[in-house]
Amino acid sequence: MSVPFEVPYNYLPEQFARPDDIFREWESLIYSSDFTLGRWVAEIENLFAQFTQSKYALAVNNGTDALVLALKALEVGPGDEVITPCNSFYATTGAIVAVGATPVFCDVDNRYQIDVTKIEELITKKTKAILPVHWGGASPDMKVIVQLANNYSLRVVEDACMGIGTRLDGIPAGTFGQVGAYSLHPLKSLNVMGDGGFVTTNDRQIYEWMSCYRNHGMTDRDHISMYGLNHRMQPLQAVVAKHELGRLEGYLNARRQNVSHFDSLVLACDTLKGKIILPSRWLRNEESFCLYMLLASNRDKLISWLRNNGIDARIHYPIPLHLQKASKEFGYKDGDFPVAEDQANRLVTLPMHQYLTRAQLDHMFSMVSSFYAS
Ligand SMILES: *Cc1c(COP(=O)(O)O)cnc(C)c1O
Repeated sequence: MSVPFEVPYNYLPEQFARPDDIFREWESLIYSSDFTLGRWVAEIENLFAQFTQSKYALAVNNGTDALVLALKALEVGPGDEVITPCNSFYATTGAIVAVGATPVFCDVDNRYQIDVTKIEELITKKTKAILPVHWGGASPDMKVIVQLANNYSLRVVEDACMGIGTRLDGIPAGTFGQVGAYSLHPLKSLNVMGDGGFVTTNDRQIYEWMSCYRNHGMTDRDHISMYGLNHRMQPLQAVVAKHELGRLEGYLNARRQNVSHFDSLVLACDTLKGKIILPSRWLRNEESFCLYMLLASNRDKLISWLRNNGIDARIHYPIPLHLQKASKEFGYKDGDFPVAEDQANRLVTLPMHQYLTRAQLDHMFSMVSSFYAS
């Protein structure tokens, strides 16, 4: 029989332990039959636009489709190259492939973000866009990326799927480029008892195109102006999103306090010097900490040790995108991106959410340090 983790990765049972206010609003929704777009979806779009300080936000069905919609809106398609990091979740590259474009991978830096010093050398005549990721809820240097994009007339779609609540220089993730894409999947900072997503933009034309395409290309019930798809968010999820958006800053503050407690334990520990390496934390970057990642020596043994001792440690991810079987046609090989490849062998993601107590964090720390002390 498996014993529940003493330090669990999963925070959902606590997050939704008392959803009475959500149930009450679902009741109004259910009696209203407002089940396709409608007033709850419109309301969360307004709230999300405010939250991200964007002119426009559209509520969509998930983060992957948010990326696809964004790329299509910028007319990225067959024959185009899109520069993207080689260490994201599969959906970032999946979206590029889905619109018929070719992903061009870029190595990453010691914060696990796209290495902005290596982007320029990847630009060719075919490059149409840069698709940086706010990986783990931290940000790459978006100022440099936007500057490069301007110099070469490229578009920027931001994968801010893990970046809801992330800010760089005080500016919300997802709002540096032409379109930002966000996910409301259960493992993201804002999550909705299922799937959901958003796209944001400040460009009215792009907004109108995405708004139309998201809903079959309909201008009204009897007319379509193009052949689109159905990327609509479900109103049930829109209700959850509204309630959870109101709690998000509280969650993030608790997470950030937990991170700084655990960081300081690691940094003060002589046994862990050279064994555990934390990424540098930029003061200018308020992170959402969707993933609390670090580099560990003897990683696989550490993970087994932690998991056997009640700590739900994981890896994001053991195989970088360019070395996945799915990337075969793009012609990459071992050694192409040495930084990401080295990290893939050493990365550990520890549970780090808003419900962890000091006692749980201290226990996790003592399990990590006892592994290296023995
Ligand atoms: C979760 C995630 C996605 C995909 O979002 P879904 O809502 O699961 O489709 C894309 N990119 C990144 C970086 C993600 O973390």
